[in-house]
Amino acid sequence: MTAATAAETARRVAGFAGQARHGRQRELREALAAGAPSPRVLVIGAGFGGIGMAVRLRRAGLETFTIVDKADGVGGVWRNNTYPGAACDVPSHLYSFSFAPNPSWSTRFAPQAEILAYLERCVDDFGLRPHLRLGVEVSAAEWDDDASVWRVQTADGEELEADVVITGLGQLNRPSIPDLDGLDEFTGPTFHSARWRHDVDLVGRRVAVVGSGASALQFLPLVADQASHVDLYQRSPNYVIPKRDHAYTPARQQRYARSPLGTRPPRWRTYWSFEARFLTFRQGSWMGALLEKAVARGLEPMVGPELPRPALVPDYPVGCKRILQSNDWYSTLQRSDVDVVTNPIVGIEPDGVRTADGARRPCEVLVFATGFAATEFLAPLQITGRQGVTLDDHWASGAEAYLGVATASLPNLFLLYGPNTNLGHNSIVFMLEAQAHYIIEVLADLVLGGRRTAEVDPQVEARFNDRLQRDAQRTVWAADCESWYKDANGRITNNWPRPTLDYWWRTRSVRPGDFRYDGVADPPADPAEPWRRSASPSR
Ligand code: NAP
Repeated sequence: MTAATAAETARRVAGFAGQARHGRQRELREALAAGAPSPRVLVIGAGFGGIGMAVRLRRAGLETFTIVDKADGVGGVWRNNTYPGAACDVPSHLYSFSFAPNPSWSTRFAPQAEILAYLERCVDDFGLRPHLRLGVEVSAAEWDDDASVWRVQTADGEELEADVVITGLGQLNRPSIPDLDGLDEFTGPTFHSARWRHDVDLVGRRVAVVGSGASALQFLPLVADQASHVDLYQRSPNYVIPKRDHAYTPARQQRYARSPLGTRPPRWRTYWSFEARFLTFRQGSWMGALLEKAVARGLEPMVGPELPRPALVPDYPVGCKRILQSNDWYSTLQRSDVDVVTNPIVGIEPDGVRTADGARRPCEVLVFATGFAATEFLAPLQITGRQGVTLDDHWASGAEAYLGVATASLPNLFLLYGPNTNLGHNSIVFMLEAQAHYIIEVLADLVLGGRRTAEVDPQVEARFNDRLQRDAQRTVWAADCESWYKDANGRITNNWPRPTLDYWWRTRSVRPGDFRYDGVADPPADPAEPWRRSASPSR
């Protein structure tokens, strides 16, 4: 780092820290600056969650942290998903950190490369690089009750010791490929959309695409431009609405950069208009009914022998799966060199796909856009908490956590983008920031109270999740449709069933009694020095 860059980083972090308005976090910062022992924090994952968390840790004056990521760079899903046309489907002025506005977004919905560059820039601007260890894959973490530390194993056999572990693994990081009969015998290239094979030339080839969700929606038009023919194997159609995208002119970017309010107006306009859309996701919503009718009416002229109504018009309530946005999806489906195949796939042959009607359609390249193992939170990490309780045992009947952030038996372990924190209607970055804030609040309780461990009260967690599941049953996600929001038993494990404002409010501070500190609800007043002084999770 040059002297100028170091000075700029110091200025940003200092200015940013100065914005710490919240009293508790300011106290934490002051206590740490005055020499209070600082917990060693291990952040697993360097995507939006991990990076945002790390910035918040620095803002709170907590420098004893390390971020590890198994990839060779930061960015998480925005590093992995490089398929043609990959872009955000939430406007970028909202899908970015509140503390790192970017006046230079080129378009309303930024493309993947720009989002990745933004995250890289955040890492540099907020001085996170020295805290980062890339190419480190965590395989297991075990709580050592005697020492009150997490012992974390990496795939390379290294052991890390941390007082606090924060996971930022995402919900959409493990591609799912169906176990189709004969798949191993396919002779052409096969890959998942989240691991795009850029070395495979699609020009002039017959391509089969399995799945028609958010990812296929973005790449199919571009693949169709290259391939000689595309078969789209679609199990169920989606609600697809127009994407109101536009480029920002240089004049507008400069205005955002110069204005004292910067990008705040577009950010908050978008936030509130999206927040209002939550009503669409209630069962029996009139907004939902209107949207369903409008979509069906718009699709009617396209219905014909090539595209029968069931291939176009969803038979489930809008919002039950993610509502998709595109301006070229339907025109792509109508192309003469694109076929929508709705007959279920029964097997793969060396050079084609077999469907239930007995047809065999040839293909040279097989692309899976079949989503992710989204309900297997934290997998494949082996997590073992207090008294040998594994996370698999704990979540045997479905993943759940208090506010999606903490779960009993796992002291000092916090989740970012954990169970029931995904959204159907707003920006996940907003939720991640609320989680990071809340985790810092718990850490403030630990450091300022001189305590070593924080563990959510199991009854508080159970009551919270009972109520949450009741609320979830009143949403469209509970309807009869397949989606990654539910686990195999139909339990809604992924989505937050209330407005984001409700979540923000609940995560502003830690309610008294929600956590047990050092194993008891009412912690001792003057405990011995709780944290070992150390620069970071030790090896
Ligand atoms: P997805 O939405 O879960 O879609 C998976 C597709 O594969 C669906 O059409 C599904 O059919 C089909 N499928 C799954 N298993 C199948 C099988 N065994 N046989 C045939 N078809 C099968 O996955 P995705 O498109 O990767 O998107 C996942 C999520 O990632 C999105 O909901 C969104 O949150 C996020 N994403 C965001 C963006 C963005 O713009 N920011 C872009 C891409 C993805 P059914 O619908 O019938 O189950």
